Amino acid sequence: MEKSILENFLHDNLGELKSKGLFNVIDPLESANGPIIRISGLDLINLSSNNYLGLATDSRLKAAAIEAIDKFGVGAGAVRTINGTLKLHVQLEERISRFKHTEAAIVFQSGFNCNMGAISAVMDKNDAILSDELNHASIIDGCRLSRAAIIAYKHSDMTDLRLKAKEVKESGMYKKIMVITDGVFSMDGDIAKLPEIVDIAEEFDIITYVDDAHGSGVLGEGAGTVKHFGLSNKIDFQIGTLSKALGVIGGYVAGKKDLIEWLKVRSRPFLFSTALTPGDAAASIKAIEILSNSTELQKKLWDNGDYLKRGLKTLGFNIGASQTPITPCIIGDESLTQEFSKRLYKNGVYAKSITFPTVPKGTGRVRNMPTAAHTKEMLDKALSIYEQIGKEMNLI
Ligand code: PMP
Repeated sequence: MEKSILENFLHDNLGELKSKGLFNVIDPLESANGPIIRISGLDLINLSSNNYLGLATDSRLKAAAIEAIDKFGVGAGAVRTINGTLKLHVQLEERISRFKHTEAAIVFQSGFNCNMGAISAVMDKNDAILSDELNHASIIDGCRLSRAAIIAYKHSDMTDLRLKAKEVKESGMYKKIMVITDGVFSMDGDIAKLPEIVDIAEEFDIITYVDDAHGSGVLGEGAGTVKHFGLSNKIDFQIGTLSKALGVIGGYVAGKKDLIEWLKVRSRPFLFSTALTPGDAAASIKAIEILSNSTELQKKLWDNGDYLKRGLKTLGFNIGASQTPITPCIIGDESLTQEFSKRLYKNGVYAKSITFPTVPKGTGRVRNMPTAAHTKEMLDKALSIYEQIGKEMNLI
């Protein structure tokens, strides 16, 4: 029988990906995503999770989630605007706004959803968005959904941003202009130049939007990149995720009261997708409470990040110019990078290779995400495996 259009499409495209070695095989974990993970019966030192503070497995968060599930059930039962808003959601939004030093906050079901909903609620086809060329996929998709003109500027290049901001403003073609950047870029661990971005935004009357998925819980005593630079009253949209340092799931916008009110009536994932589950909301409240009361976990995270960086550098690896605990180990050639990551895996270290097109050609890297939950013994073991494989492959 003749194949359908869909069957032909899938056959051709999957075949191409597989023949080029670009088909991503997913290894399911047989354990929690902690500092040691189990895959196919093997225990591995895990340097690939975003569970930066170890909170995904924290007993206080688990207890909060279990208590909330007992009281409210496993699902919120409706979208926020029908009757899915629980007291827990309101409390979580209050805690986030206090933590972020803003007037208000709105919670979404994920960080991805949040970018899809927030950008398109404010920007439209009469507007323009200046977007860092390395911004996350959810920002790119959120920008596209808004139908605004998208103007990418060179990564963290403030001369290019200023030039483009001036051009866009002086063209007189757009009603509103927004600048969007990640707070911390997760491939290299570098921090956005927010003070300069704010200056340019003030000069040209531009709305500011910072997605701090990787800076929240990590920088600025936990409150993130915006607080790190002391700019809490200068950034219009502070985006964050509850899924990385906070260990749970969900996304949020923190900002002025009017902005949050608008998002609550115009943001489509808020209006049309079921609310965050009670367990996730309660665990997130607990995570923020822990971060608000102590910086111990951040200190451990940074200490572990510095330790791993020093160790890899001493061994002779190129660790790039990260300004955060994210530690790339840049190998360069794509297939060499993949081989290096595979050998690390076989010897007990789970550190994913990241290659073109996710990062520029020739800058393939194995990316390490140390967390507060790693012990020095685990990091020493990982470093000794790095040394062994690095020497075997003549990389150091
Ligand atoms: N923004 C950035 C910068 C991210 O790195 C990610 C996650 N990779 C997201 C948004 C999406 O967040 P979530 O996983 O909560 O959907």
